[in-house]
Amino acid sequence: MEIKVLGCRETTSFLLNESLLLDAGYVIDVLKIEEQDKIKHILLTHSHLDHIRDIPMLIDNTIEGRSDPINLIGTERTLTQIRSHLFNDSIWPDLVRLSGKNFSFLRFKSIKSGRDFSLNELTIRAIEVSHTVETVGYFITDNNASILYIGDTGPTEKIWREANKFQELKAIFIETAFPNRLLDFANNSGHLVPLTLKSELQKLNDSHIPIFIFHLKPRYSETIKEEIEAIGNTNITILQSEDSFEF
Ligand SMILES: [Zn+2]
Ligand SMILES: [Zn+2]
Repeated sequence: MEIKVLGCRETTSFLLNESLLLDAGYVIDVLKIEEQDKIKHILLTHSHLDHIRDIPMLIDNTIEGRSDPINLIGTERTLTQIRSHLFNDSIWPDLVRLSGKNFSFLRFKSIKSGRDFSLNELTIRAIEVSHTVETVGYFITDNNASILYIGDTGPTEKIWREANKFQELKAIFIETAFPNRLLDFANNSGHLVPLTLKSELQKLNDSHIPIFIFHLKPRYSETIKEEIEAIGNTNITILQSEDSFEF
């Protein structure tokens, strides 16, 4: 599978195999309109703005470029939050209700954590993590490999136990939003600092899995990079916008 980093700073999004977005915080400034037309599914970790910001404009940009609605995939609670607080005919039109014969905008598909579902050639499993709203990370598997995408999380347990069951885990994408001096703030807001990242990674049985870090808040990015370097883990890479990987 091919993964391209679209946004990895204050707003996050990744593009998988050209047609699937992992979160949608930073899309329209990076992808050409023809590339936006190819997006069929958006897999959401949670409802926070920095992960959903570009969904309304993406739909605007692609109304005539698609024959089917974009599938917004997430837990029931995440989708309900987005319907109630974004597509509520107040902040933005209710594009689920307005999807009809003439134009196809948006469709909601709810998934349950812990239960595998298929999306074309991919098998996907959501597992809950620790954040201030209901949030999941996703194991994504195709014929060759599995990867784990964790959006926002503070220190957590279940997803690491699950990761240890996967045989072919080729990469883990995980946030580190704040520097060590903001440990208390990060814990309270469900985020990681380099110190807690280090202890989270110690929960993995296989210490050789490549780790890709994103969501460094721009004000602190230099400090966070230095503190991650000080961990001394050579498997860790800090992502840059438009990096891409094949697994
Ligand atoms: Zn969040
Ligand atoms: Zn976030």
